[in-house]
Order: sequence, then structure tokens, then C-alpha cells
Amino acid sequence: MDAAVPQSLFSLTPDQHAIRDMARRFADERLAPYALEWDAKKHFPVQEIREAAGLGLGGIAIREDVGGSGLRRLEAALIFEALATGCPAVSAYISIHNMVAAMIDRWGTPAQRARFLPDLCSMATLGAYCLTEPASGSDAAALRSRARRQGDHYIVTGVKQFISGAGSADLYAVMVRTGEDGPRGITCLLVPAGTAGLSFGANERKMGWNAQPTRQVILEEAVVPLENRLGEEGQGFRIAMAGLDGGRLNIAACSLGGAQAALEKALAYTAERRAFGARIDSFQATQFKLADMATGLEAARTLLWRAAAALDAGDPNATQLCAMAKRFTTDTGFAVANDALQLFGGYGYLADYGVEKIVRDLRVHQILEGTNEIMRVIIARGLLSA
Ligand SMILES: Cc1cc2nc3c(=O)[nH]c(=O)nc-3n(C[C@H](O)[C@H](O)[C@H](O)COP(=O)(O)OP(=O)(O)OC[C@H]3O[C@@H](n4cnc5c(N)ncnc54)[C@H](O)[C@@H]3O)c2cc1C
Repeated sequence: MDAAVPQSLFSLTPDQHAIRDMARRFADERLAPYALEWDAKKHFPVQEIREAAGLGLGGIAIREDVGGSGLRRLEAALIFEALATGCPAVSAYISIHNMVAAMIDRWGTPAQRARFLPDLCSMATLGAYCLTEPASGSDAAALRSRARRQGDHYIVTGVKQFISGAGSADLYAVMVRTGEDGPRGITCLLVPAGTAGLSFGANERKMGWNAQPTRQVILEEAVVPLENRLGEEGQGFRIAMAGLDGGRLNIAACSLGGAQAALEKALAYTAERRAFGARIDSFQATQFKLADMATGLEAARTLLWRAAAALDAGDPNATQLCAMAKRFTTDTGFAVANDALQLFGGYGYLADYGVEKIVRDLRVHQILEGTNEIMRVIIARGLLSA
């Protein structure tokens, strides 16, 4: 049987188990022991991220001719859940990098695939996805960064807001306006670090996701060669949205992994901690809470795998399913992590126990790659047009 094909949605193949176990081992050994320190020091662990690429995690769904792992969305969901048990912020950055690589794999010319993807897959170069602007987040098609043609170059001016990895990344997939207002006037340009006119804002001070930088990307008359345009003029919004289908699954998987780690910590803690002469986990109220947490995660995991399989199969409802999975999994993951914090009592609020960091990291998953309100907009649009 093809290693990438699930036996059924409800059981994984031996290869899929092996892939998940490999990512979990990496998370246990190379991420989890250092995650609290990276969070406190706001350190972006590029070395460990590149080690993950050594395991094939820099180009998970990228075709193998350019160094990708040739896996599918379901395997990616398994990988990001496992990685996020070690550090949701690092796992989420690797997911954004993979989204950029997947956009180039799908929409790039043979020359662009050959030029950019081998280094992206090995993570010799790191990618960043630049859609949001200071005045347009949810309404991304209202973006105002502009590129005008001049000979065989574009001259680009504009500001991109909240860009993950900015300043450390080497290749920026930037959505800019080359034509009319609205989605059809948008084009995707690949802007390498070092481009004249490209600079970065300060690293934002954030609630979580401290192990990866978030900065503005500033383009001031930046000169980008025509050959760095991904797809045709006017295709950029479609490219950006198609990238987000997979990206949303990966972010959802990161919530699942973070929440799974919080549940595992809560199980261990409530087995040890005593009150009123008994273990905390001997109280039925605690057992019911743990049971509800595990049930929520299993329901989220099932929906996530279903959406991933739909995207792999080119199901026409895949975008709706991805939005459902992103909304449900990120809400459930945050709630479960917050419940875990509650089960730790006052210690849950202290940094050393590692649960409050998970809560802080997972909160932003309800906001980015489309807010959970926008996920409902997408789901409702599908329902009403059916
Ligand atoms: C840490 C971090 C990292 C990020 N990384 C990236 C990145 O790498 N690349 C990138 O391009 N972007 C990135 N983003 C941006 C993120 O995708 C946006 O913040 C998000 O899409 C929301 O946009 P906004 O912040 O402008 O909020 P707004 O669009 O202003 O929304 C404000 C509120 O209004 C609600 N709302 C808006 N429209 C509707 C509607 N039609 N119906 C109901 N409610 C609505 C929203 O849900 C939200 O609650 C990142 C953000 C953060 C915080």
C-alpha cells in the first residue's frame, strides 16, 4: 500500500505511526526541554528548526524532485500535532514556512521550483507569508501595498503587518496590488532578504509565540525582478487563499498538540497533588473534567483528519471543512489548555510548570490565518450557496 494513503480515516498506517513518532521524539528531545527558556528569552531557535528540516519537515508536502518529503495533508497534521507538544510557537513557525514552500511548489514555474525549493526544504532558507497589512487583516483583499512594472522589475511600496519570522526569514511571499481594487488586482511576489528597499519593524511584544519573531515587513521602492512573480498578475489572492487551506489545518494541528501536552501535564499533576487527604484525580469532578478534555481533543482530531483527507482528495468542500477544523480545533485546544491550567491551581499560573505558556501560545491560533469569526463566514458562505 502507498505509504501516504490512510487505511481508513480512523486508523493510521504503520508508516503514518512512524512519522508521528519521529516528530514526537524530536519534540520531546529537541523542543520541549528548551521551550520555556526560548519563551522567556524571546529566542527564535533557528538551529533546532533546521534540525527538523533534516528529518524532512521543511518541505513536508513538497514534491520529492526538489528535496521535499512528498507527504500529504494528513501526515502534515500528524507531524504538527506531534511537534507542538514540544513547543506550539516553533511548530507554528515551521507550519508557516511549509505553507510558503507549498505555494511555490504548486504555483511556481519549473525554474522557480528549482531555484527556491531545495533550500526551503532543507531550511537553508526560511520562508515568511506576507498578506496582512496595518489597515487590512480579515478583509485581506483590501490590501494597499502596490507594485508597478518598470522594465523587467516591479517597484514595490507598502507595509505588511504581523509577519511571522520577519527579520530572520530569507524569502518573503508578499501579496501586492498590481491592478484593480479587490481580489483580482493582487499579485504574489517572492522577495528575498537583502533586496534593496526591504526592511523590518521592531519585534512585537506579544502575549505568546515568543519563540518566533513577529515584525512589520516594510517595502520602500523595493526592486523585485519579474522572474520572482509567483503565478500570473492578478492570481495572488487565489494563491494566498489556497495556501491558507493547508496552513489552517497545520495551525489547528499545532493547537491540538499544545493542548495534548497540557492534558498530559494535567494527568501527571493531578495524580500527584493531594487535597483533603486524597489525590486530586480521585475526585470525580476532576475525572469528569479530564474526560471532557480528552473527548474534546479526540473530536477535534477526527474533524482535522477528515478535513486533511478532503484537501488531499481535492474535495470541493475542502475549504469549508478546513475552516470548520481550524475553528473547532483552535477553540477546543485553547479551552483544554485553559482547563489544564485550572487543574494545576495556583501552580498553573506560574511559568515553571509550562501550562500558562501553552495557554498563551494557543490563544493566537484563534486569531491568525483567518480569525475564527472569518472561519464562520467561510462556513456559512458554503452553506448558503449550496
Ligand atoms: C502573532 C501573530 C502572527 C501573525 N502572523 C502573520 C503572518 O505571518 N502573515 C500574515 O499575513 N498575517 C499574520 N498575522 C495576522 C493575522 O492573520 C491577522 O491579525 C488576522 O487575520 C486578523 O486581522 P486583524 O488583526 O487586522 O483584525 P481585524 O480584521 O481588524 O478584525 C478585528 C475583529 O473583527 C472581526 N471581524 C472582522 N471582519 C468580520 C466579519 N466579516 N464578520 C465578523 N467578524 C469580523 C475579527 O474576527 C476580529 O475579531 C499574524 C497575527 C499575529 C497576532
